[in-house]
Amino acid sequence: MFDQAPLDRARQLAARYIGSLRDRPVGIPAPPAELSARLDGPLPQDGRDPAAVIDDLAAAVDPGLIASAGPRYFGFVIGGSLPAALAADWLTSAWDQNAGLYASSPAAAACEGVVARWLLELLDLPREASVGFVTGCQMANFTCLAAARHAVLARAGWDVEGDGFQGAPPVRVVVGAQAHATIFTSLRMLGFGAGRAVVVGADDQGRMRPGELDRALAEISGPTIVCAQAGNVNTGAFDPMGPIADACTRAGAWLHVDGAFGLWARVSPRFAASTAGIERADSWATDVHKWLNVPYDSGLAIISDQSAHRGAMTSSAAYYEMAAGRREPHEFTPEASRRARAFPIYAAIRSLGRAGVSEMVERTCDLAARMADLLAAHPRLRVINEVVLNQVLVDVVPPAALEHDACVRGVIDRVQRSGDCWLGGTTWNGRAAIRVSVSNWSTTPDDIGRAAAAIIGAVSQELRAGS
Ligand SMILES: *Cc1c(COP(=O)(O)O)cnc(C)c1O
Repeated sequence: MFDQAPLDRARQLAARYIGSLRDRPVGIPAPPAELSARLDGPLPQDGRDPAAVIDDLAAAVDPGLIASAGPRYFGFVIGGSLPAALAADWLTSAWDQNAGLYASSPAAAACEGVVARWLLELLDLPREASVGFVTGCQMANFTCLAAARHAVLARAGWDVEGDGFQGAPPVRVVVGAQAHATIFTSLRMLGFGAGRAVVVGADDQGRMRPGELDRALAEISGPTIVCAQAGNVNTGAFDPMGPIADACTRAGAWLHVDGAFGLWARVSPRFAASTAGIERADSWATDVHKWLNVPYDSGLAIISDQSAHRGAMTSSAAYYEMAAGRREPHEFTPEASRRARAFPIYAAIRSLGRAGVSEMVERTCDLAARMADLLAAHPRLRVINEVVLNQVLVDVVPPAALEHDACVRGVIDRVQRSGDCWLGGTTWNGRAAIRVSVSNWSTTPDDIGRAAAAIIGAVSQELRAGS
């Protein structure tokens, strides 16, 4: 007999936690030793009642939980969980499907097929592209670049899956100076070598300079992959996709786009101009756990050439044709067995509709602009990016006697300790800066006001403490 009691406890505890998100401290650093001590003990010899285990676990981890699913978390780029997506995610665990094979979950395979079609329409990407459901943008970048590697070497008459990289024609990879760290991790894992990438300069917003790309491509011959970015993690800026796509067409290069969050701007007509040309790329990596607000973890590898996608990911050399209407999910991901990630995505899109997704993207961008206005009005704060999306970069202007970077970090530390909101730091043009990302579906104008007040309060405290 399946014991329902732990599920009932989990439901109650989850409801209590979610109900507390608006008011609980967003994140107050707890000493790591204390957090470990709350969980620690000798390896249990004997079992314990499952419901009691759930109670104990929830109580033990509570002080170490960051309310990143809540409305005043502005760190990194982290979304929350839409109600329908979270509920579908619970069911995904209850159903416990192995989504790797059609045979082990026809429902998961069918759902992937439908969600893939919806996503291509929502993001306005080539309808014949294929979609792999992966854990996040890291694995999406990896999968897309594996497909790129397959395609550019196949064109050069080389079977990289069969024969490996040793002795293969050299492949040049070109990246922007502001490419995300996960691009380099992917290059490392795929055998390109992170240090071998040709780096093209970026402008003051972090956008790749297409003229420099052109010049770099002119000096390269043979198989080439270009990695562009839609949505700089600091500024939110987009690489100029039209000119980049032109340059790649001229050079015969594979164009990959890392659009972890920025790709979602395509759902709103407001951002049509900034995302124009993205559809001309060969592959797109994005996250779903960021801006679409599904629970961790969820990312998408989208590849225009389905045969390159399957060629890079399927382990069987002879890719068998998909039976009519029958999708084999493992042909599009590095994983074999895996979770059915399409169910929560389905629920998110179904609950919001195209209009709702577009409204959520626009609303979070409006809130980011509001945050920028509130902070820029303070004499000691300066917004240093063009707020073109949902990201705000903020500088502190300390009096001459105070060291700049220490002051910025001091402010960030005070904000984090306040528990009123949470944001992180970054380095921009070699200097410390405060980064604000508005990516949560539940953030309201009041949350922005409260967070701005907390940031301004932290600035006053930091300047007082330093003087
Ligand atoms: C977040 C992000 C990634 C990495 O995504 P994960 O979900 O952490 O795997 C890659 N590129 C960009 C631009 C990002 O913002």
